[in-house]
Amino acid sequence: MSRHIYRPMLARVAPKPFSDKDWIFEIKWDGFRAIAYVEEPYSLKSRNGKELKHNFPELEELNKLSGNVVVDGEIVVMREGKPDFQALLERGQAVSPNEIQRQAQRAPAIYVVFDILEKDGNPLTKLPLMERKKILKASLKEGKNVLLSDFIEEKGEVYYKLVLDKGLEGVMAKKKESYYEEGLRTGSWLKIKKLRTCDCIIFGYTKGADSREKTFGALLLGLYDTDGKPVYVGKVGTGFTQEMLGILTDKFEKLKTDVAPFKPEVGDVVTWLEPKLVCEVIYQVVTRDIKLRMARFQRLREDKSPAECTLDQIINDKKQVTDVEDKLSEYASKRNFEVTTEPKGEEKRGDNLIFVIQEHHARRLHYDLRLENGGVLKSWAVPKGMPESPRQRHLAVETEDHPIGYANFEGSIPEGQYGAGTVKIWDKGHYQTKVWEDNKIEFTLNGQRLKGRYILVRLKKAGDKDWLLLKGKE
Ligand code: MN
Repeated sequence: MSRHIYRPMLARVAPKPFSDKDWIFEIKWDGFRAIAYVEEPYSLKSRNGKELKHNFPELEELNKLSGNVVVDGEIVVMREGKPDFQALLERGQAVSPNEIQRQAQRAPAIYVVFDILEKDGNPLTKLPLMERKKILKASLKEGKNVLLSDFIEEKGEVYYKLVLDKGLEGVMAKKKESYYEEGLRTGSWLKIKKLRTCDCIIFGYTKGADSREKTFGALLLGLYDTDGKPVYVGKVGTGFTQEMLGILTDKFEKLKTDVAPFKPEVGDVVTWLEPKLVCEVIYQVVTRDIKLRMARFQRLREDKSPAECTLDQIINDKKQVTDVEDKLSEYASKRNFEVTTEPKGEEKRGDNLIFVIQEHHARRLHYDLRLENGGVLKSWAVPKGMPESPRQRHLAVETEDHPIGYANFEGSIPEGQYGAGTVKIWDKGHYQTKVWEDNKIEFTLNGQRLKGRYILVRLKKAGDKDWLLLKGKE
């Protein structure tokens, strides 16, 4: 009898902690998500269905701690009271049995269990979370390498502070009444992560448009490397109050210079500034090419000198490794890679950004526009295809990020799978961006069929999945 393979329930991001009597809060562990099948045959499966049991032999302890259950949890390697993600990555990459044994001794893993999905062959996913928690506690003993995740009720804000004080990543908030919604990213589970901040030097600014015409568009941020050379780390265009826009514009007046410290991004009209101003920005992750992603202006830091703003603030940010995996989790959760031939996430890196437009004969014919950005392919489904003139406005519905390798995918997705039907590459090539903001993307395609400028504008408020795709005037 073949068994049901569970896909992990996923969490949305919440911007800040909250307290609510209908919710519980637990630590967000920075590790590998894994579902354990504690029965014959024992199996420990990653989010993408990869077998992990060989790499973590010490977790076979699970078999002594419970009967026939399927549980969900996170594998972590602890070092000095904190999860060490680098050590965990090494554990995951080990191949030879000797190396695996050696690492299991040196950096043993802990499996922190937070949910139970099945007991004695009966699925529990349709029970409310609090009942599952009770059954879990009664069904699994803790051991040397297996722990039950602690949680507290209601007091999310206090708990968040405690967790961060311990140097941990953040907390998970889960609705007490919620079912286990397999493979879905729902609002019943939320992750509330520590904000990352960086103090950057303002090296210049781009020209503003519309309401920002008299001030500026975005600030160009830089940090000094070990040789004291300025390195561009991205732009910040949000987070300014009206007052701050004015203050900064005034300050810029006296600092204008013709000396460019680094090459600006293609298409940016930049006014350079002497490196005198320091600002703090918050950001989500550092991309592999050392740019701050989703940066937001916090404040000017007049107490800090530009010389103190060095690259080491961000360069060892190991979260960049998980970033791509995080972005692709929805993609992976929708697919069974034992059935479909779509890529799991192999990467192909070049100097130029790639794009692909795939003709997808699914339930309804549509075209999938995908643009490489931050290690993944940002994707939109465009029912009417690419607009041919600036007068046409085509709806483009944002879909989940796809792995870079998807740009080469052609073939048929089997019946019953997500997006079942045939996929053909309609156009492919390189592209450049002029603007890449939360609500607007301007890009120039250089493909076999299409060459030229296009604009994507998000409809209504940020967070909506609907965009308009327009052809730019030449
Ligand atoms: Mn599609």
